[in-house]
Amino acid sequence: MRALWLEDRVLSVRDVPVPAADGEALVRVVVSGVCGTDLELARGYYPFTGVIGHEFVGEVIESPDPAWIGARVVGEINAECGGCEACRAGRPTHCEDRTVLGIAGRDGAHAEYLRLPLSNLHRVPDGVSDEAAVFTEPIAAAVEILQQVHVLPTDRVLLVGAGRLGQLVAQVLALTGARLRVVAKHDAQKALLAARGIETIEPGDVEPRRWDIVVEATGSPSGFELAAAALRPRGTLVLKSTYRGEITLALAPFVVDEITIIGSRCGPFAPALRLLERGEVDPTALIAETYPLERAVEAMEAAGRPGTMKVLLRP
Ligand SMILES: [Zn+2]
Ligand SMILES: [Zn+2]
Repeated sequence: MRALWLEDRVLSVRDVPVPAADGEALVRVVVSGVCGTDLELARGYYPFTGVIGHEFVGEVIESPDPAWIGARVVGEINAECGGCEACRAGRPTHCEDRTVLGIAGRDGAHAEYLRLPLSNLHRVPDGVSDEAAVFTEPIAAAVEILQQVHVLPTDRVLLVGAGRLGQLVAQVLALTGARLRVVAKHDAQKALLAARGIETIEPGDVEPRRWDIVVEATGSPSGFELAAAALRPRGTLVLKSTYRGEITLALAPFVVDEITIIGSRCGPFAPALRLLERGEVDPTALIAETYPLERAVEAMEAAGRPGTMKVLLRP
């Protein structure tokens, strides 16, 4: 099969063997989405050799349970061992022996086929298009914030960053009824938010020490600085982006102001699919371009240009 292969920071579309199902489900990929994590993998921020990609919609071709064959599915990306302390304690996304689709120890979704444990798969509701369902994984990551933080409708919530993930975080946070403002860099990002009735704010207009909850989704030191300065004492800072390298910061203000810092990663798929089914989150306006898998290297370059929203691949 054809697949987007990463090795020593070099991307290529090449022939690789169709993965052996080996007790798991074999899925034919219909569409996959390029994520910021893919770009970071290609830049060498994580050590990985193999097929990248973890956001997809596909059709089950082989399955240990025949009832799944032919199902249109999305898949959770962490494959857990089921036996370690984290798994047994109900924290499977933190499994110590996990493999992660297209990120760690497991070939990914920018390919004609992938395999995942059946327990990772979720059927896509009929009313949800492939183009919308391919966003399930990042929407789940946005939903994870609500799993972690009790956002009150009376809260002032600031979101710093309105890129691929930030847009989805904004749509999910808007559902809480909180007073939400989003710091967006590019005009196209502002327009997408405006189309959803979500208000933006210029960095210079962010009142310092006034916001109850601040979500940082830029992954940049300047975004972090703005986010930290905006928080009121005893506020909550949610880190929704990974940081390349290190960030230098004075910790004393966090102690004095009794700030809660929360790291936030993968979230639950079932509520993400419900939000899509009900139309409460609509990611399709974020699609910038769709490329054939054969042109995946070019697609990755396009996705890496500043301000580019979602790039999709079709095998
Ligand atoms: Zn992703
Ligand atoms: Zn485990």
